[in-house]
Amino acid sequence: MKKHNFSAGPCILPQEVLVKASEALINFDGLDLSLIEISHRSPNFVAVIEKARHLVLELLNLEGKGYQVLFLQGGASSQFLLSAYNLMKDQNGKAAYLNTGTWSSKAIKEAKLFGELAEVASSKDKNFNYIPKDYIIPSDVDYFHTTSNNTIYGTQMHSFPEFNGINVCDMSSDIFSRSLDFSKFDLIYAGAQKNMGPAGTTLVVVKESILGNTGRTIPSMLDYQVHIAKDSMFNTPPVFAVYTSMLTLEWLKDLGGIKAIEKINNQKAQLLYQEIDRNPLFTGVSATEDRSKMNATFTLNNESHSDLFDTIWEEAGINGLNGHRSVGGYRASMYNALTIESVEVLVNCMQELERKA
Ligand SMILES: *Cc1c(COP(=O)(O)O)cnc(C)c1O
Repeated sequence: MKKHNFSAGPCILPQEVLVKASEALINFDGLDLSLIEISHRSPNFVAVIEKARHLVLELLNLEGKGYQVLFLQGGASSQFLLSAYNLMKDQNGKAAYLNTGTWSSKAIKEAKLFGELAEVASSKDKNFNYIPKDYIIPSDVDYFHTTSNNTIYGTQMHSFPEFNGINVCDMSSDIFSRSLDFSKFDLIYAGAQKNMGPAGTTLVVVKESILGNTGRTIPSMLDYQVHIAKDSMFNTPPVFAVYTSMLTLEWLKDLGGIKAIEKINNQKAQLLYQEIDRNPLFTGVSATEDRSKMNATFTLNNESHSDLFDTIWEEAGINGLNGHRSVGGYRASMYNALTIESVEVLVNCMQELERKA
């Protein structure tokens, strides 16, 4: 039986997607060839990437609003620098960043190579266990950058500040998990391997009108406009990752889209946090109002219980529950494909520990 996979990333994908993807590895589209050994310019693959692009816009409700969808490589980590390179003015470039964790900090480090940085607020003082709320975004910046969900610390932005300029968001770990007005963002990027597909491609959704205004000469591979002009085929795209992402997006659409999955994600998060709060042996790590519905972080109040707890959840068939090294404790990642039954198994393990400890 498949394990209950709470891995933070690469993460769980729907079983039916894995079956279809594995079939395509042997015989794609009845071609008697593998998906990964045909030309990316073949009509069969072009249809895949076009469908994936269309599904992204449809699911995010961004059709006909001037957005382009790219499937790039280099992970969300490359987007830390691409976003700055493509948006920060060559002369007197300036950007504002909200620092909510490791990934934001890395984005800030890269952007500093391109211009002046205003860190509008940071939750570093409390090991990033909350989302800063009261801060001022300077009006003269080229863009404002946020991280919607902090995968490592288990916090999530449940609201976004109104900023009249260009809004950039790293949505790697909660894209397609909840309803938002995505048209409030001008540039969204996400590594596929958290909630969309396998590692190897990075989704970029960008409003075309914000590009080409920096006065910089951008190397081709780092230039969003080059990738847009070539339909993500300026160089060979990661065909397997794009195909499997397309299958996952199709799965999500069939399920009823973001509204439907959001309901399930809310139920999963509520079930687990309820137990974290009720069970006297555990404590939640992040501030209650900023808790992430994707990654729940929690610790044992008494470290001496850890061997017993680890045995209990491992025997129950749970995978990937250990916390990130910078937080410790446990982290239950509840991405779209994780079922509520898996969360019930985890809650049962926590209750079993309470009985046995
Ligand atoms: C995992 C993660 C990243 C890094 O993604 P890579 O694709 O490994 O570069 C960036 N931002 C967030 C929020 C993440 O969760």
